[in-house]
Amino acid sequence: MGFLLCNMDDKYKKYLQSDEWYQLKIDILEYRGHKCEKCGRTKNLHIHHKHYENIYNEEPEDLIILCGLCHAKAHGIIKEKKKKPKKKKVKKKKQFNQLTRREEINLKKTNPHKYNIYLKKLKDKYSKY
Ligand SMILES: [Zn+2]
Ligand SMILES: [Zn+2]
Repeated sequence: MGFLLCNMDDKYKKYLQSDEWYQLKIDILEYRGHKCEKCGRTKNLHIHHKHYENIYNEEPEDLIILCGLCHAKAHGIIKEKKKKPKKKKVKKKKQFNQLTRREEINLKKTNPHKYNIYLKKLKDKYSKY
């Protein structure tokens, strides 16, 4: 579909600095209003070629007013961020963990109260039938 910024030829570069292009830009901005036709921003406006079929002899319809950001997007310099769906964090229910024999002994020594609770829970767990 024609030129991109990176492989513009010299003729095109010169053209963008020419009076004709300058005048065309002014006309388009005057005619359509000084704002980005994509997002409505009014600063840092560029004239972008929708296509290059009529290059050096553009019709107003071949051109679009874009702000710097939308222009960069149009050329794929800035990729539009895709919103990633947020992963829902599944809250894990605190499950009753059965301790190893070693941990039991340790708990009994260090925290007898907790150990009693643990024993009670253990009892509950195995008393279900
Ligand atoms: Zn452009
Ligand atoms: Zn814009």
